[in-house]
Formats: sequence, structure tokens, C-alpha cells
Amino acid sequence: MSMATLLAAKSTIVAVWFLCFFAAERLVRAAAPPEGSVARLLRNGAMWLLILAASPFIVAPLTAWGVNHVVWTRPESLSSDMLGAAGLIVSLISLDLWTYWLHRAYHRVPAMWRLHEIHHRDEFLDTTSAVRFHLGEVILSALLRLIPIALLATPISTVIIFEALVLCAAIFHHSNLRIPPNFEGPLSRLIVTPSIHWVHHHALKADTDSNYATVLSLWDPMFRSKSPAKRSPEMKIGVEGVEDKGFFRLMLMPFRKADL
Ligand SMILES: [Zn+2]
Repeated sequence: MSMATLLAAKSTIVAVWFLCFFAAERLVRAAAPPEGSVARLLRNGAMWLLILAASPFIVAPLTAWGVNHVVWTRPESLSSDMLGAAGLIVSLISLDLWTYWLHRAYHRVPAMWRLHEIHHRDEFLDTTSAVRFHLGEVILSALLRLIPIALLATPISTVIIFEALVLCAAIFHHSNLRIPPNFEGPLSRLIVTPSIHWVHHHALKADTDSNYATVLSLWDPMFRSKSPAKRSPEMKIGVEGVEDKGFFRLMLMPFRKADL
């Protein structure tokens, strides 16, 4: 499959996935949205637009440079990047593990939290929360991702498949879609579901600093970061003790000394 075809497939799959969940979570809601939710949607949408506009000029060239500067060459048995091949599976699981630890770092390192906090300031969760990130976090993540790309000698096609997987996973686990517990329960043993990730957005520091996994749900129990809390539709979403702000204030917030 050519790179252009893979990129087009990624964009199409993510766009269709997003639209399906965006519509479904409005038809079958888990929690009632707060007042002023249109302003919130516009704010989250503006952050996504900024990322979409900047990524081809920053994230894509960085990644392209990274895959050409790997530290070793994969043996033939792990070189295939076709679906179902061992190389792809090993890479996707490894990148998911990397994303888990990177997410923990965003919560533990104060300078990184200043960027990641913008994502957590959202006071409600739905599909748009999955694309609400400070551009600085997206760029820093792409830069740091060069480490596992180099160490694993990751092919560019695998990185693109992983990006699609992460976006689809994030749209799903941030969504406000009501899912039958007898379906979500078994599913959450394998992948991160809204019942797991909404606890990560609970406006209570102990819960915010837990449940870091993105795709596979095993990392939190494995590394002892799973919160015992159960999600409830009434739980307050956001960052404990602070409020959400307007788009421009959020964009400037990581670079200002005083908290706004
Ligand atoms: Zn987080």
C-alpha cells in the first residue's frame, strides 16, 4: 500500500469514526451536557483545527525524519509492516506502552503538565475532548516519539496505523455514548472504555493521576496506576480547583508564570 493511500485511509477512517460517535453520543447519552456546551464545542474544535493545520508542517516532517534515522535494521522476520504481521503487532503494542509512560510523564513533570492540563481543563467529555490538545503537547509528543521509533526501527506505515488506532481509541473512550454495562465490562478488560477513561478526567487529583492507558487497558493494573473509583454520570469533570478558559487564554496558559 502506498503512503498516500495509507494517509488517505487514516483520514477517512478517523473522520467516519468521529462522525459516527459524535452522532451516536447525542442520540444515546451517558451524561447530560452542561450549560454553554456550544462554546465548549467551538473551543475544542478550534484546537483540533490548529493541530490539523500545523501537523503537515511540523509533526509529519519530524516523523519522516525519525523513520529515516533508526538505530538498527529489522530482521526479515519482523520487517513486514502488513496487517497481521509480527512486526506490526509488536510495534503497535510497544508504541501503546510508550504512550502510557508518556502520559504518566505529562502528569508528573510540571512543565509537561502545563501543556497537558489544557486537555484536562475540559469540564465535560465527548468525542471533541479526544481532539482537544494544546498544539505544544502534540509537537512535544511527536518529538519524544522519535525515541521508540528509533529504538524499534518503526516503519512509517506502522506509525500511521498507530496514529489512526490512537485517535479512534481516544474518540471512543472520551465519548459520552451510553454503553450497556454487560458489554462494556468485558470490553474494558481488553481496551480502555469510557468507564475507565472518564475516571481519569474526574476533577479529583487522585483520580486524574490514574488510568493513563490509551488503547490496551492492561497497563494501569500492571504498573499500579488503576483507580478503584467507578465512573458515575454525575462525577465532576475537569481539573480539581480550577476552571476551563477561553481558547486564547488556554493557548497562552502554558507559557505564563501565573496560573490564569
Ligand atoms: Zn491525562
